[in-house]
Amino acid sequence: MTDSHAHYDDKAFESDRDALLSSMNENGVSLIINVGDNAESSKRSIALAEKYDFIYACVGIHPEHANDITDRDYDEIKELSKHEKVVAIGEIGLDYHYDGYNKDNQKELFRRQIKIAHEVNLPVVVHERDACADVLEILKDEDIGKTGGLLHCFSGSVETLKIVMDMGMYISLGGIVTFKNAKTAPEAAKHVPIDRLLLETDCPYLAPAPFRGKRNNSIYMYYTAEKIANLRGISFEELEAATDENAKRFYRI
Ligand SMILES: [Zn+2]
Repeated sequence: MTDSHAHYDDKAFESDRDALLSSMNENGVSLIINVGDNAESSKRSIALAEKYDFIYACVGIHPEHANDITDRDYDEIKELSKHEKVVAIGEIGLDYHYDGYNKDNQKELFRRQIKIAHEVNLPVVVHERDACADVLEILKDEDIGKTGGLLHCFSGSVETLKIVMDMGMYISLGGIVTFKNAKTAPEAAKHVPIDRLLLETDCPYLAPAPFRGKRNNSIYMYYTAEKIANLRGISFEELEAATDENAKRFYRI
């Protein structure tokens, strides 16, 4: 399996990071993309990618940092993006969930990082929370089809899915599809074209059932994959093969 979105640089993995990552291959996880959410975690993602063959990195600034960004941050992300194991700019996007966000600052941060992606010819990994219409507008406006994009942790409607597919994008699904109260993610799991779907954990967050609420890791992705395979009426092996291939195509690995 390929974990297309993980945060192993997070301090939640401080005590056992190397032991856990060293056990991935024997537990069926062959490829992991570690995603930055600011310049520092982007650097840590690259360090993990340098240490492990099967880890690649994304570099980018998450919208939650939009209120304290300087020009230096943009320069840094652009520099980091030139590393040979950096496969995308991310995670970037809009998040209107928590108090204190500033829409204009987030939009500027999002647009400027898409422009960097165009300049360095990398796809983008997009985070969207409570900001669907604005995210879609910016993706369209910035011509995302040119470099390619992945909407991670997708939880939009089937109508939104169609718009995202029409832009030539991919989606990734994680533990939420296994949650009892999940509605839109399982629908998306059924309706997304099989050649546009990736698996992810977003670990340490969003562990699938039966581990909901615990620290997540890529080995638990088996439960997510099995749930999606069931929803689609295909075998685990078929889903695994398709999502592995899609991840490699999207990230150009
Ligand atoms: Zn993430």
